[in-house]
Amino acid sequence: MKKHNFSAGPCILPEEVLQKASEAIINFNNDNLSLIEISHRSQPFVDVIENARSLVLELLGLQNKGYHALFLQGGASTQFLMTAYNLLNKKAAYLNTGTWSTKAIKEAKLFGELIEVASSKDKNFNYIPKNYEIPSDADYFHCTSNNTIYGTQMMEFPETEVPLVCDMSSDIFSRQLDFSKFDLIYAGAQKNMGPAGTTLVVVKEDILGKVERQIPSMLNYQVFIDKDSMFNTPPVFAVYTSMLTLEWLKDLGGIEFIEKVNNQKAALLYDEIDRNPLFKGVAAKEDRSKMNATFTLINPELQTQFDTMWKEANINGLSGHRSVGGYRASMYNALTLYSVQALVDVMKELERKA
Ligand code: PMP
Repeated sequence: MKKHNFSAGPCILPEEVLQKASEAIINFNNDNLSLIEISHRSQPFVDVIENARSLVLELLGLQNKGYHALFLQGGASTQFLMTAYNLLNKKAAYLNTGTWSTKAIKEAKLFGELIEVASSKDKNFNYIPKNYEIPSDADYFHCTSNNTIYGTQMMEFPETEVPLVCDMSSDIFSRQLDFSKFDLIYAGAQKNMGPAGTTLVVVKEDILGKVERQIPSMLNYQVFIDKDSMFNTPPVFAVYTSMLTLEWLKDLGGIEFIEKVNNQKAALLYDEIDRNPLFKGVAAKEDRSKMNATFTLINPELQTQFDTMWKEANINGLSGHRSVGGYRASMYNALTLYSVQALVDVMKELERKA
């Protein structure tokens, strides 16, 4: 039986996506060739990447609004520097909410002055700073919508005149937002979209072309826009599998539908964390992530017993990140309410036995 997969990433993908992706490896489009052995310039693959790009804009409600969807390589980590390379002239403003923001800040500093508008480092990033000022002369403001490691999520985004850049690696396509507020969104595929190997960038073209420096082609958004995301060989398998996941999401009813399921899953688990006297949550309640729930055992001596129990219950990927400890239940789009119930049942059983 397939495990209940709470892994933080790479992570669970829908069964039907895995099925179709594996079929395409052997025989794509009934053409007696594998998806990964045909030219990326052949029509069948051009159709795939075009479909994937258009599904992204459709699901985010960004069609015909000056945005382009690109499937790039190098992970979200390359976007830490690529955003700055393409957008930072003099100074940029960053909100520091964890490891990934800190890494983005480090890279951006190579390109200009950096203003850290606020940080939650003082409490090991267990909350989202509020009421910060964004300098009006910043080239852009960068934030991380969901902090995969600490289990916090931005519920609101600042109203600002400066372009808004957001790392949505771990909550893209999970909740409804006014995506047109953002000028550039990036996300590694390996959470809510597909396998590792491609990074989605959604960029509003009119924010580009404003920096004075020369940008190498492979790091230049405009080059990829001009070539319909095919400047060089794209990661064909990762793009195809992402397309399948986007189709799956659209068929289910899009972000509007999945957000309701995600809310139910998060409520089920957080209610148990708060009710069960053996557990406590790590993140500040008002900033709790609906994608990654972090929690600990109040009595660490129960750890071996709990670990044995959840593993026996066919659960995978529950150990917390080394910088936080405890447990982290990642509840991405493809995880079912049934899997969350399986975890909650184990937590209740521990309470009975302990
Ligand atoms: N940003 C966030 C929010 C992440 O969770 C991660 C890790 N998956 C990254 C950036 C880095 O992504 P990648 O490993 O694709 O470079």
